[in-house]
Amino acid sequence: MCKGEVASAQRAAPRNDTTLVVGNTKAQLSLRGASPPKAEGATKQPPPYTTAAISGTSFSTGAEGQGSNLQISMSPERASYCTGQTPPVPPRTTGRMVPTNTSPAPKAHVISLFSGGLDSSLSVLLMLRQNVQVTAITFMTHFGCDLSDRSSCSSNPYPAAKQFGFDVKLVHLAEKFVKIVQNPTYGYGKNMNPCVDCRILMLREAKDYMDMVGADAVITGEVLGQRPFSQMRPKLHLTEREAGLKGRLLRPLSAKLLPPTIAELDGRIDREKLEAICGRGRHRQMELAKEFGLENYPSPASGCLLTDPEYSRKLRDLLQHTPHINFIDLNLLQVGRHFRLTPETKVIVGRSESDNNKLEAYAEPADWLLEVMDTGSPVTIVRGAPTPDDLEKAAAITARYCDLRTEPSVEVTLRQAKDSRTLRLEPGTPEWVESLRV
Ligand code: SF4
Repeated sequence: MCKGEVASAQRAAPRNDTTLVVGNTKAQLSLRGASPPKAEGATKQPPPYTTAAISGTSFSTGAEGQGSNLQISMSPERASYCTGQTPPVPPRTTGRMVPTNTSPAPKAHVISLFSGGLDSSLSVLLMLRQNVQVTAITFMTHFGCDLSDRSSCSSNPYPAAKQFGFDVKLVHLAEKFVKIVQNPTYGYGKNMNPCVDCRILMLREAKDYMDMVGADAVITGEVLGQRPFSQMRPKLHLTEREAGLKGRLLRPLSAKLLPPTIAELDGRIDREKLEAICGRGRHRQMELAKEFGLENYPSPASGCLLTDPEYSRKLRDLLQHTPHINFIDLNLLQVGRHFRLTPETKVIVGRSESDNNKLEAYAEPADWLLEVMDTGSPVTIVRGAPTPDDLEKAAAITARYCDLRTEPSVEVTLRQAKDSRTLRLEPGTPEWVESLRV
């Protein structure tokens, strides 16, 4: 076999299939389409090499003493053709229409950015359908991509993983994500959502994992033209380049409209079995969902909390006034009504019993907690460096939201780790309270 033929065999062969070693040269061989040798044929009538032997899953021939040898190792299924042994029974697969990671000899291994939504699920299924192994990563952040949060842009990935048979890893981006929210290189979308930086960060994390486990590509559920800020063609190219994934980032739902990846070019992933979806319509996705037997998928998420105008306003205020934010500051953004008294002092008033409990739980020793006793009352937290005047204002706001708000005066209890006091005062007027609202 000349060098060119070895190279072309190498391109055509599925990975983990057959390894051919000629002297110091190693190549992959495909046996697809070749008639399997008979067991006796293989031992009694060796091919035109000087020696041949079959043992377990390896088949070797060699011209001993002539300085050359040839060794073929192969999967147990292929080896069974040569040895005459019964081929191993592949493990049972789960799911309705797709092979799973437990199918023998996957053609390739990809790492998927997986939110559990329809698009990322379909991307995974398009891979599993062509016997590509998938390891999914579900990313979480402090901004609503939290599996237990109803406003989340991620949902529980485990039911789909169990149904269709692929692995899932949960990764919390924590501080790395907070940094890009504070200072995104590619700016914000309509609200405080730094979607381009966010995609780059997630893709870089997935790439690190891909390199670590020796996978072939990263896949996403992105659809060309579906989101105006982050999924237009130039942005898709940008995120691929910035994540260091040139040629190794596959978007199965729009693949046929994008340049082929390395795995498509060398045949490990069949481009013909991928999709050419473009735009916001979901007709083709619905068809695919039906085809795959995918049911109970979540309706399209509008994004994480950073896409929410009210949340974004509170976050902007926090970033503007707090040079070193901590995770309690971020968690508090999802709780209660927020008021800004001074650049240093902020007031948060509970809207429900659940908010009140959270405010009590998040209070740090320096924070003040305010409440009107023996009546329906919010819990209020005062954070920062409040002056006596600020505490009075916070008490008037608290009184405004308690059940006694129509009374001429209300007694508010204020407590801190080492102090407590009461203030009797008139509840704030709705207009005044609203003027302090973040
Ligand atoms: S909405 Fe944007 S910023 Fe939020 S998780 Fe999705 S891509 Fe990231």
